[in-house]
Order: sequence, then structure tokens, then C-alpha cells
Amino acid sequence: MFENLSDRLGSVFDRLTKQGALSEDDVKTALREVRVALLEADVSLPVVRNFVKSVEKKATGAAVTKSITPGQQVVKIVHDELIEVLRGEGEPGELRIGSAPAPILMVGLQGGGKTTTTAKLAKRLTERDKKKVLMASLDVQRPAAMEQLAVLGTQIGVDTLPIVKGEDPVAIAKRAKTQASLGGYDVYMLDTAGRLSIDEELMAQVEAVRDVTSPRETLLVVDGLTGQDAVHTAENFDERIGISGVVLTRMDGDGRGGAALSMRAITGKPIKFVGLGEKMDALETFEPERVAGRILG
Ligand code: GDP
Repeated sequence: MFENLSDRLGSVFDRLTKQGALSEDDVKTALREVRVALLEADVSLPVVRNFVKSVEKKATGAAVTKSITPGQQVVKIVHDELIEVLRGEGEPGELRIGSAPAPILMVGLQGGGKTTTTAKLAKRLTERDKKKVLMASLDVQRPAAMEQLAVLGTQIGVDTLPIVKGEDPVAIAKRAKTQASLGGYDVYMLDTAGRLSIDEELMAQVEAVRDVTSPRETLLVVDGLTGQDAVHTAENFDERIGISGVVLTRMDGDGRGGAALSMRAITGKPIKFVGLGEKMDALETFEPERVAGRILG
């Protein structure tokens, strides 16, 4: 088990200044604990360094309010700073839909949770936002992935584009676009193929699909438990394809949510949703407060 950062700081400060302003030494001692807690939460090292520096600036000389202890004061400064970094532009959970039909491109590596998330999001758009949604799988390399989306579609009551053998991803994307217009759909979601790692063929394919559909949103789905790898994946996809937001999956796992902080600090892209399980309703709006609380312990 992780030691709770709030408790850790509390005991550090019991031995230190009882009142007045936080001294430089007090802050340094406290920041050592913050650094360890962030590293334990799998936040990447450069991000930890910058974060600690920023907290140090804010905490040194900060007046200690009479009603709280110096330990609580530092915890509050750390908490506020976490939220500032985690919060991206715009409302998390809101998508730019605009005029119908709106294309949403789902990208990511194989196994990250892309197909599951496509269906979860389609369900949310259908039920919460009352949108008429069409889903299409472009994964021509893996017929099982196409079947998987069709099965999920039936399960959640969302239409999927009929599978036509031998079509390439661009042709499928075009057919989805036509079908979405003719069928009066508000949104069509394109579940692109994934690979175990990023390769040129995959990127070229996603790029071609992007070019024929001009997506309103390009959402990268990544496994939140993979920490640094998730951030590298995001950097690569953003550089090549341009992503508008991130969905972090497997946030129901044991991880402390450090990937979220690294993701925000390094890519600057908004985290829109988190996946919290395998079930179709286990998708939630990303909440900086919850993740900050989880990192702080
Ligand atoms: P894809 O290859 O990226 O399309 O990945 P899939 O959507 O097929 O997901 C791979 C596995 O991860 C499946 O067994 C999913 O049920 C599971 N999965 C997806 N999202 C989550 C999540 O948020 N939490 C958990 N625990 N499992 C998930």
C-alpha cells in the first residue's frame, strides 16, 4: 500500500514550524515527500521535477493560515497545482459535434481499449445527448475486431455499418460518411485499426482516413496503466495525426493516476473521459479533482 501523502506531510510538519510563514527548509522537507509520492504514482520524472519546482515557488514564504497546519497548507498548494495541470481547455466530457453528421475518429494502439471505448461513447452520446450514432470498424486486418464492434452495437442498441469484405479503410470511411448523411445520423464514429506498436503503415492509414473525413474530434484511447508509454503514444499520434483529446482507460485499476498528470503536462491535450471497467456504462467524464485526490492519496 502507498502511504498517504497527506498523512506523510502531516507527520513531517509535526516536527517543524508550528505557525507563521512556511520556511524554506520546511518546504524542502515537504517537497521530498511530494516527489516520492508522485514517482510512486508513476508520474514521469521531468514532470515531477517541474511540478515540485512550481509548488516550491508557491509554498515558500506562503503565510500559514491559523486554522490549518503547515502540513495541510502544503497539501492544499499541491492539490491546487495538481488540478491546474490536470485541467485542460474546454469542458471535459464535452465533444465538438456541430452540424450533422459529425465524424469522430478513434485512434490508438491495439489492446488499449479503442473498440470498447467507441461503443461506450456511442452509448453515452445516444442516451445522454440523444444523438443518433453510427459506428464503423475500419480494422480490415482483424475481422474479429469488426465483429466485436457489431456485437457491442447490438448489445447497446447502436447501429453499425454493415461489414463488406475486401474494402479498404478509406472506402469504409467514405461509406460510413454517405450512410451517416443518408440515414440522418448526428454522429458517425470510426474505430480505426490498432497495432501493437506504432508503425508507418498504421499512421499512413489513419492519416488517409482523417483526410477523407475531416473529423470534428480525433480521440486517442490509451491504457492509463501504461504510464510513460501512454504519453509516448500520445506524442506520436498527435505529431502525425493531430489529436483533439485523450481517453484514459483502465483507470479502475490499481494505478495512482500518474499517467493523467504526465499526459497533461507533456502533451497539453485535454483528457476528456476515463474508462473505469469493461462494462458499457463504465465511461466517465474526466474529473481533475478525483485524479488529484487519488494522486495525493
Ligand atoms: P482495442 O484493441 O484497443 O480495440 O481494445 P479493446 O476495446 O478490444 O479492449 C481490450 C480489453 O480491455 C477488453 O477486454 C476490454 O474489455 C478491456 N477494457 C477496455 N477498457 C477498459 C477499462 O476502462 N477498464 C478495464 N478494466 N478494462 C477495459
